[in-house]
Amino acid sequence: MIAAKTLKLSLKSLKDFAKKRLPDETLIELDERDECPLEIVRHMCSPDKLGIQLLFIPEEFGGMGGGAFDVYCICEEMAHIDLGVATAVLATFLGSDPITVGATPEQKKLWLSRIADEGILFAYGATEPEAGSDLGALRTTADRVTQDGRIVGYKINGAKQWISNGGIADAYTVLANTPAGPSWFVVEKGAKGFTHDEPEDKHGIRLSNTAALAFSDVYVDADRLLGGVEGQGLNQAQAVFGYTRLMVAAFGLGAGWAALDRAIPYSTKRIQAGAPLSEKQGYTHKLIVPHVARLEAARSYIEETAERIDAGKEGSLNTEGAIAKYMATEAGNAAAEASIQALGGYGYTHEYMVEKISRDVRITTIYEGTSEIMEMTIRRDRWQLHLKTRGQHYHEQARQFEALHVHHPDVGADTTSLALHALADVMEKARVAHLTRHQHILLRLGELIAFAECAGSLSRRAALMKDGTIHEKTNRRFDASALAAISRIFARDAALKVAQEGLRWIAGAIGLSDSEMNAFETNLGLPAIHRAQAGLMSDMDYVADVLYNRAAKQLRTAA
Ligand SMILES: Cc1cc2nc3c(=O)[nH]c(=O)nc-3n(C[C@H](O)[C@H](O)[C@H](O)COP(=O)(O)OP(=O)(O)OC[C@H]3O[C@@H](n4cnc5c(N)ncnc54)[C@H](O)[C@@H]3O)c2cc1C
Repeated sequence: MIAAKTLKLSLKSLKDFAKKRLPDETLIELDERDECPLEIVRHMCSPDKLGIQLLFIPEEFGGMGGGAFDVYCICEEMAHIDLGVATAVLATFLGSDPITVGATPEQKKLWLSRIADEGILFAYGATEPEAGSDLGALRTTADRVTQDGRIVGYKINGAKQWISNGGIADAYTVLANTPAGPSWFVVEKGAKGFTHDEPEDKHGIRLSNTAALAFSDVYVDADRLLGGVEGQGLNQAQAVFGYTRLMVAAFGLGAGWAALDRAIPYSTKRIQAGAPLSEKQGYTHKLIVPHVARLEAARSYIEETAERIDAGKEGSLNTEGAIAKYMATEAGNAAAEASIQALGGYGYTHEYMVEKISRDVRITTIYEGTSEIMEMTIRRDRWQLHLKTRGQHYHEQARQFEALHVHHPDVGADTTSLALHALADVMEKARVAHLTRHQHILLRLGELIAFAECAGSLSRRAALMKDGTIHEKTNRRFDASALAAISRIFARDAALKVAQEGLRWIAGAIGLSDSEMNAFETNLGLPAIHRAQAGLMSDMDYVADVLYNRAAKQLRTAA
């Protein structure tokens, strides 16, 4: 972990650098030319220049030993600047992850020190033409080369697809099938038989180099097998998902806010029907405020997960990483899409940037695991908790929010508890009716779980903010009153979604008679959830006032 002051300085250097070297005109030109600014990426990753990569590398190998919270803050800032450049920098981190997790001490020293001292760029080569979400289907092979009965090296054959930094990296971590199963290897640029294609012509992140790789009898010494033991590759990939998905979550958050940070000031200047758009409730309450709530709910989950990863007591937190990624990247996409609408015709042109942000952020729901794979991961894990606790897991969580509500009646904890009780009831109904046979329902449960857990996280964060006990590196865009109002808005949204959509999928699968429907609605707490919507409009008004820095916010109470 690095000191809060150091993190602040790093974030400032990053902002200043971007202001100077990556102004809008440059970003637009590079995007139009479909060009990765390699010199800028190298500058960012050079130890004697910006040295972003140092944050990711442990101190013992010459880095600064940043933790998950630090990395989230940097990733959000980078994505706020440009998601393509952010991807290029992140690729080195992703590429070095199998080393951090699975390499021998000698391998770590060699490669991590080279990233820190020389600023070499890495790429992470997992995906193949036939193996995307299902990495187990990979076909790239690594055959043993033996001498006197001893393994001295491997010959790699196969192809990789959509590899970030594929055409510009100095070294690649490559997943290949050995006789004992998938394993990670380091392959250096220029190795005989190793080639890459021209960069892909992509929808977005056009400042990031993405290329296919080909391996034809590429020989590597045995010490390039990470960890020195075959067959550990998928476990090593799994071990860092909590962490790496948190980074992509921060990308969704940063890009979503980058779009809103353009839409909000624009709407104060754009006069339509005699007044700025920012004063029109039908505009702010559709195109701005709901997206702020979703992004901040995701942020809370990211921050909590980062804190837990840094505390190091709970394993890899893969499910939490999946929830953070799912919520933040979906929210980032929705915010960018709404920002195009918020700028009207201007939003549809290159010059105003929001269309570029929207194209860029699109990738975040695809790479590092698609949204559907996230839904599956979330549901699978939480279903086990539901079964293990005989359906009590989310009821117990709900009771914790009932207790929180007693001390903090204004952070939406009461509504969050309604969401969690409803979730437990939907899951139980799905169990009793054997609905696990419907994959669609399972994935929808994943979505409802993510919404309910994020509502909980935001209620907790708003309470900590009120108490003044929040993490010192937390994002302070909003004060305690504003965050409480945002939390109430999101909790209402989550509760309604869980109950209404949960009911819809259950009814859609098994059909419910009138009396069963009435009983289920009551069980889910639908009447209470409907009553909890009271106050939504005044909370949205308040958050809009805060966002637009209007005097009215001083007069209103957050209650
Ligand atoms: C710009 C870019 C950069 C990338 N960078 C890298 C990189 O650096 N390194 C790397 O290794 N990879 C990288 N990738 C690959 C990326 O991680 C994969 O594209 C992603 O994991 C999805 O795999 P796929 O494209 O094969 O899609 P598929 O797995 O074929 O999925 C297609 C669709 O089907 C859905 N789907 C898949 N399986 C299921 C299922 N079981 N049930 C229901 N629905 C399902 C998916 O959610 C998706 O909507 C990158 C991709 C892009 C586009």
